[in-house]
Amino acid sequence: MQLKIYNSLTGEKEIFKPILEGNVGMYVCGPTVYSNVHLGNVRTFLSFDFIYRSLMHLGYKVRYVRNITDAGHLTDDGDVNNDRFVKQTRLEKLEPMEIVQKYTVDFHKVLQLFNLLPPNIEPTATGHIVEQIELTQKLIQKGFAYESNGSVYFDVLEYNKRGLNYGELSKRNIEELFANTRDLDGQGEKKNPQDFALWKKASPAHIMRWNSPWGEGFPGWHLECTAMSTKYLGETFDIHGGGMDLKFPHHECEIAQGKACNGAEPVHYWMHANMLTMNSQRMSKSTGNYILPMQLVTGENDFFEKPFHPSIVRFCFLQAHYRSVLDISNDAMLASEKGFIRLMEAIKVLNDITPNDEKQSPFRLDEWKNKAYDALTDDFNSPVLIAHLFEAVKYIFALKDGKETVSTKDLEELKSVLNAFVFDVLGLQTIEENNNEKLDQTLKVLIELRNQARKSKNFELSDQIRDKLLAEGIELKDGRDGTSYVLN
Ligand code: AMP
Ligand code: ZN
Repeated sequence: MQLKIYNSLTGEKEIFKPILEGNVGMYVCGPTVYSNVHLGNVRTFLSFDFIYRSLMHLGYKVRYVRNITDAGHLTDDGDVNNDRFVKQTRLEKLEPMEIVQKYTVDFHKVLQLFNLLPPNIEPTATGHIVEQIELTQKLIQKGFAYESNGSVYFDVLEYNKRGLNYGELSKRNIEELFANTRDLDGQGEKKNPQDFALWKKASPAHIMRWNSPWGEGFPGWHLECTAMSTKYLGETFDIHGGGMDLKFPHHECEIAQGKACNGAEPVHYWMHANMLTMNSQRMSKSTGNYILPMQLVTGENDFFEKPFHPSIVRFCFLQAHYRSVLDISNDAMLASEKGFIRLMEAIKVLNDITPNDEKQSPFRLDEWKNKAYDALTDDFNSPVLIAHLFEAVKYIFALKDGKETVSTKDLEELKSVLNAFVFDVLGLQTIEENNNEKLDQTLKVLIELRNQARKSKNFELSDQIRDKLLAEGIELKDGRDGTSYVLN
């Protein structure tokens, strides 16, 4: 089985050849933790969670690194995000690291809600200031960067003079870029408006600042990803991912930094996940067309008529290919809910099927399995994979109705393949599993404590436990086989 990956750098689907056989190094740009992630951000992280799970399922040993941007970041149109850190700090009267902590915790909670696996390493920009300073020094030494008034800029013109081709990822014409860009950011510090900051001098009001050979300042956003990916995956690694909107300038600058430092392409396969739109408009905080993940799950929003379980949201996202735009709407969510329920029902039904080794079924399990793997290895085509899963669902319901047969061997194989695809690769959870596992464990502990209280004739305490749970809508029922509970 050959895995094919669409490489944004070449614009082609290529056969995946890892640098070290059987191993994959993958870096994905993480969130900027100055506010809550919206559902659009979740889609990108979920796309890469599916890719991560697929790679592992296909037998690769993956080192998955996803950073946390906590130092604020620079963009070409000005020190936008750092200003946001500063403004919000004053507004909320919080320490910058308090904001960072608050939204990092929120980010993790949200991803857990949608059953995303944690990456193997989650480095922070503030934890890698030394590495970023060292990289900046190396770029100055090699003649690719220059200091100007306490800031350090990458010299794009020099990079191009040496034939290194700035713009290769975003396919931008460099002459046009030079002609059409004004310097809004560098205040006359830059040699050329396209030059981007590697290190920025901190203004007196700037709170997050570090000592450096160029005075007090803070690192550029593009540099942090180069520093952390190189540190944990090497100067050249297999896969780099992120949302489409990061292609330019962020990833273009990462390529320039990597090539200038090490003389080689830093990444073999660039993967870009497409955007989430809501009611046909891109989800973004700046336009107000956004929804927080929890708002979709609790139903507290103006866009959807009812709440949707996180597993249904996950299923909906995976019904689109990661490179396609996905539009969510009330109708789309309702359709996904229907599909999800049918899929889960089929998995339950499968447990009650009795095999029949006398008759041969026209359903060819081996062919079905091959088609499913072909979809997975064809640039992680989740919608086609799901379509194949639904062929199996149809077959399972025909088995239930006695219209089809399955051999003992095929039944075991079908169960194992279907479970692997649904739970391990797509990362779906049954609604009960996602909802009630922790609650169930907690209630069992409380029931046990109540039983102990009764044994030691502390009826006051045992009644208190029962009554307090009842007030929360949880009714304990004492029966012959012990105590059970009902959620009202
Ligand atoms: P940020 O925290 O702004 O750097 O964004 C984190 C990730 O979310 C980046 O990879 C973005 O490309 C991605 N992203 C932002 N908006 C959307 C959207 N509407 N749909 C999908 N991904 C998005
Ligand atoms: Zn990045």
